[in-house]
Amino acid sequence: MEHSRDRIYVDGAWIPSTGTGTLPVTNPYTEQVLGTVPEGTAEDVDKAVRAAARALPGWAATSLEDRVKACTAISEGLQARAQEIALAASTEMGAPWQLAVMVQAGLPIISFASMADLVDEVEWERRSGNSVLVRQPVGVVGAITPWNYPLHQIAAKVAPALAAGCTVVVKPSELVPGVAYLLAEVIDAVGLPPGVFNLVPGTGPVVGEAIVTHELVDMVSFTGSTRAGRRVAELAAAAPKRTSLELGGKSASVLLDDLSAEELGNAIAGSLTGCLINSGQTCSALTRLLVPRDRLAEVEGLLEVFAQFAPVGDPLQPGTQQGPLVSKVQQERVRDYIQKAIDEGAKLVAGGPEQPEDQPTGFFVRPTVLVAEAGSTIEQEEVFGPVLTVVPYDGGDEEALAVANGTAYGLSGAVWASDRDRAVAFAKRMRTGQVGINGGAFNPTAPFGGFGQSGYGRELGSLGIEEFTNITSLQL
Ligand code: NAD
Repeated sequence: MEHSRDRIYVDGAWIPSTGTGTLPVTNPYTEQVLGTVPEGTAEDVDKAVRAAARALPGWAATSLEDRVKACTAISEGLQARAQEIALAASTEMGAPWQLAVMVQAGLPIISFASMADLVDEVEWERRSGNSVLVRQPVGVVGAITPWNYPLHQIAAKVAPALAAGCTVVVKPSELVPGVAYLLAEVIDAVGLPPGVFNLVPGTGPVVGEAIVTHELVDMVSFTGSTRAGRRVAELAAAAPKRTSLELGGKSASVLLDDLSAEELGNAIAGSLTGCLINSGQTCSALTRLLVPRDRLAEVEGLLEVFAQFAPVGDPLQPGTQQGPLVSKVQQERVRDYIQKAIDEGAKLVAGGPEQPEDQPTGFFVRPTVLVAEAGSTIEQEEVFGPVLTVVPYDGGDEEALAVANGTAYGLSGAVWASDRDRAVAFAKRMRTGQVGINGGAFNPTAPFGGFGQSGYGRELGSLGIEEFTNITSLQL
């Protein structure tokens, strides 16, 4: 597996960066530097954006059928290299192997393949009165992505953008760039016209901001922290240009008060899994478990037992469920949150801020369960690690709903009830982008996106394609 790269991908060719800087790629399990990638420059971005702008008219004019064929070919190319993708995700960000194969490599393959069906769900033209509304590609798209699902987040932008007829410049996370290189190699082998896809690695303030502020970029699709998303939106507003922001979350898994003891057990197991997936580094993680106060003791007892089934370890070992966090910075941030919660009076049920005893190295955080009141820091702020906060509520559904909707975020959620209709009615009032009912599975083609500080715009599904279009009304 190649972790060191000395080129960027611009205008259909692998070229050197105009700068001389490099960025390290670190294995969070061994804490060793694996290699380096170029630290891209604003000049690199300019080259890439101009290439994308030159390629735009030609790509926009290709048939939808040909663009779908390209996406299908990319999906097949990714499939052929799925093991390498999983290995890159596992060694560069610590994703446990099974998750690396199923999700980190598996989801991008699905995203590109799904274009074949999803384009048929888009109304590319429709009549309205004496008008025909025509969807056109929005133009040159800048895609800026984080490290936690590093290829999925790129694919969720690039696949629909290409299908819509847009050209793209991608800036992957500087921490986990390897999977983006593998995608660029696949696209190069598929042979898209030069400039349709470009890759410029680098830091947010340099490469990211150069993309956002470039006059030839028509839209910025950003996934990452609310802090950086705010900056992107501010810079884009100066043009102004369209942005789509997929940001953080503090999603609630709500246990309603009619659950039997057995249903409660299932709900807790599902909620804990939904919290700890990808070692807790998931924007849509179910990080708050809302529990009727009179069942708190029952819930705590189950969580204490369940948490023992999430051992941390070498992400490449097949049985490992929890890998290290991506970086020392993230590890310290998460530990600080746990300590602060305890200092503020939260009850520690499992885990804690210390390094796991059996893992002296690696950026590990022990899977941690805390009980804290609504409104406390740990209940309100995104931690981005393997930390579940149990939040007792008094009263019935109205009170539970107020707590569920009581943070600045709204990305995902879950509701569990014996009475499914009651769960659905509750879910419809949650101010959040996705809700799983009684363990309903993640759907890779359901629209994904946020309310409030979780951002705006939708990815995945046919709405994800429509994001990259603009409407022209023809009056007949
Ligand atoms: P981050 O915001 O630090 O970085 C995300 C990307 O933005 C990186 O490529 C980074 O280089 C770039 N960036 C940083 N500053 C920038 C700037 N000033 N201008 C332009 N680009 C800039 O986030 P992260 O630490 O990589 O990822 C973790 C965060 O992402 C969490 O808050 C998580 O909730 C969020 N996230 C959200 C989703 C979603 O779909 N809603 C998905 C995954 C992660």
